[in-house]
Amino acid sequence: KKSDNLNSIEMYDEVLHPAVKTRATLETDLAFALQGQQLLLYFQVQVDETHQPIGAEVLLRWQHPALGMIPPDQFIPIAEESGEIVPIGQWVLQQACEQLRHWASAPLTRSLMLSVNVSAVQFNQPDFVQMVTDTVLQSGCDPRLLRLELTESLIVRNVDEIIGKIQALKALGMTFSLDDFGTGQSSLSVLKRLPLDELKIDKSFIKDILHNTYDTFIVETIIKMAKNLGQTVIAEGVEMQPQKTLLQTMGCHRFQGYLFSKPLPLEQFESSLQTEMAM
Ligand code: C2E
Ligand code: CA
Ligand code: CA
Ligand code: CA
Repeated sequence: KKSDNLNSIEMYDEVLHPAVKTRATLETDLAFALQGQQLLLYFQVQVDETHQPIGAEVLLRWQHPALGMIPPDQFIPIAEESGEIVPIGQWVLQQACEQLRHWASAPLTRSLMLSVNVSAVQFNQPDFVQMVTDTVLQSGCDPRLLRLELTESLIVRNVDEIIGKIQALKALGMTFSLDDFGTGQSSLSVLKRLPLDELKIDKSFIKDILHNTYDTFIVETIIKMAKNLGQTVIAEGVEMQPQKTLLQTMGCHRFQGYLFSKPLPLEQFESSLQTEMAM
């Protein structure tokens, strides 16, 4: 997790020093972030072997009026504890669905998928399925272009209930990805029961894939397992061409990472697509 922190420091113009504000103050401020229009979405491209964009992951940012840009790793855990993640998560989903509907009218963007992160706290709300259904239907977007990213932290409860929720939403056409795969402690026997469409290999495994034979072996095993379960695989945190080449020889055909692009604000993301297509 150290490397994650180093990367956030590189990425954000103004870094929130942990001592600047107490957690309680951030929690209070967070309650106003949504109505104060301080939250915004960045988009990070996901590509196929030929570097063609196939979609993007939606990543939340908090533009704090006094502290500048606060990375999600610093405020999402607080939002999960306070419960604020529920309205925030709904807002992210609404924005993503509206973006998809908007993109549907242009040839360059109409087949792009959007991956939206869903917190376990949000997923475990009793009305989660209803909320997602209403949001998707009201937006008029194509649910087949919407992918929800879940993490293993979800699996603390009744697995049948989780499966039921996933299946209800899959019936609408949307798909599911398991994020940060390999970092949690859930057992494979539980994971294999979840009707997931995609496994996302965590960037901590990708980081040393070229030099750490243990990580190389883990990634190879994850890819094989996913194939056996009929799931596609995407690697996150791909920063160097040789990583991508190795992943490809192992059977991974979808990639996300700084090698292709950092997360970008909407306008920059859209113009990056234009340059990509022009090449
Ligand atoms: P995540 O879902 O694992 O997202 C991937 C993180 O890796 C993002 O950090 C992204 O900027 C970063 N990343 C992308 N490419 C590279 C790369 O090549 N190298 C490295 N080192 N890092 C890369 P970000 O945007 O700071 O988000 C951090 C976490 O915050 C996310 O991790 C996710 O767990 C959470 N998050 C972000 N947006 C949302 C949201 O809307 N809802 C919820 N519940 N969580 C969110
Ligand atoms: Ca994610
Ligand atoms: Ca991840
Ligand atoms: Ca993560």
